[in-house]
Amino acid sequence: MTAFEGDFYGFHAELTDREAESVAEIRQFFETEVRPIATDYWNRAEFPHQLVPGIAALGLFGPEWEETRRFASSAVYQGWCTLEMARVDASVCGFTAVQSGLAMGSIGVGGSAAQRAEWLPRMASGEVIGAFGLTEPLSGSDTARGLQTSATRQGDTWVLNGAKRWIGNGTIADVVIVWARDTADGQVKGFIVPTTTPGFSATKIEGKLSFRLIQNADIVLDEVVVADELRLPNIRSFSDTATVLRLTRAGVGWLAVGNAIGAYEAALAYTRERRQFGAPIGGHQLVQDLLVKCLANITASLAMCVQVSRMLDAGIQRDEHSALAKAFVSSRARETVAWAREAMGGNGIVLDYGVAKPFADAEAIYSFEGTREMNTLIVGRAITGVAAFV
Ligand SMILES: Cc1cc2nc3c(=O)[nH]c(=O)nc-3n(C[C@H](O)[C@H](O)[C@H](O)COP(=O)(O)OP(=O)(O)OC[C@H]3O[C@@H](n4cnc5c(N)ncnc54)[C@H](O)[C@@H]3O)c2cc1C
Repeated sequence: MTAFEGDFYGFHAELTDREAESVAEIRQFFETEVRPIATDYWNRAEFPHQLVPGIAALGLFGPEWEETRRFASSAVYQGWCTLEMARVDASVCGFTAVQSGLAMGSIGVGGSAAQRAEWLPRMASGEVIGAFGLTEPLSGSDTARGLQTSATRQGDTWVLNGAKRWIGNGTIADVVIVWARDTADGQVKGFIVPTTTPGFSATKIEGKLSFRLIQNADIVLDEVVVADELRLPNIRSFSDTATVLRLTRAGVGWLAVGNAIGAYEAALAYTRERRQFGAPIGGHQLVQDLLVKCLANITASLAMCVQVSRMLDAGIQRDEHSALAKAFVSSRARETVAWAREAMGGNGIVLDYGVAKPFADAEAIYSFEGTREMNTLIVGRAITGVAAFV
């Protein structure tokens, strides 16, 4: 695989030949099929459904799961897949991450063998699109305690009532993994809810300035009845929900650094061409300072992502490891896209020049899958032994 300019230390050399070949195929697809249309769809806040079969063919839906993956691969490889996608478009990468990590991950972690066999291959092929419904209008960071959507058992069925907010893929999904509190024992449980179920409704959140291509939804569950076979049997409490998030959070670090690399590379190319005071602006010391600060952030962030994924591969990654990476990398990415945009002057805020979109997308990445504050508190609890969430 050819290196790209944002991988200054050549971390990609760690991939096996098979993995590197696959990552190169992903890059090729994203450069030829996604890049030419992403800005237009992002601008119109619409989802390019025509990309789904190609993304599925690359094995990007659920490379983590035995049932669906194309070949034995590592968490480091999966991180590179995320980075390659986000380098071109963070929203398309986010769509894929919701499908493969959050929705399929919930079924992979919490589902029975029969549920895994029924749903994962159909989701891997893109036939079934999934979403992950945890956040609510009144509980975001505080979902562990504040989650109010209820699940009441009635014979062989469950009745779900409540509301969800921010649910990625919410208006285009065939199934949503709904997290609800059992009115009998007070524990959080997970349900595979087909979006055609009576009482389910989803409304797109309009007016976002970030991740515009992703279809985030407000969802209402009004006396939604689902069979007990659609309950995830291995989810017994919120700590099982947290297991899914533990697996996906490191991936958000890779998404953040991929998005930042996209901005950096666009700015670098621009500064080689654009001339002021008789020379390319990349030849001015203060512009070089901006570019080098971007590169330092990216390089440190990439090192962190690679190591956290190695720890996942070794089975020694804990919540605080991925939380530290997500908090640090998404913060550095926010600085990086701002410096990249600054290096381009006025054109930095114009979508066609390649930095305005990652600049805006860095904001959503900074907040989802645990805000910087929440991830900081997870690390703070681990290093001091004292929980400081309240
Ligand atoms: C683009 C996008 C996609 C998303 N996709 C999904 C999805 O697919 N599924 C899903 O379930 N959710 C999704 N979310 C929701 C996301 O996980 C939440 O936005 C996030 O958890 C923060 O919750 P909140 O927005 O309600 O903010 P709040 O929890 O209201 O927090 C607001 C601010 O207060 C701070 N804060 C809160 N409590 C404390 C404290 N104890 N100490 C210090 N600071 C604190 C926060 O860090 C933050 O800065 C998505 C969000 C976005 C923006």
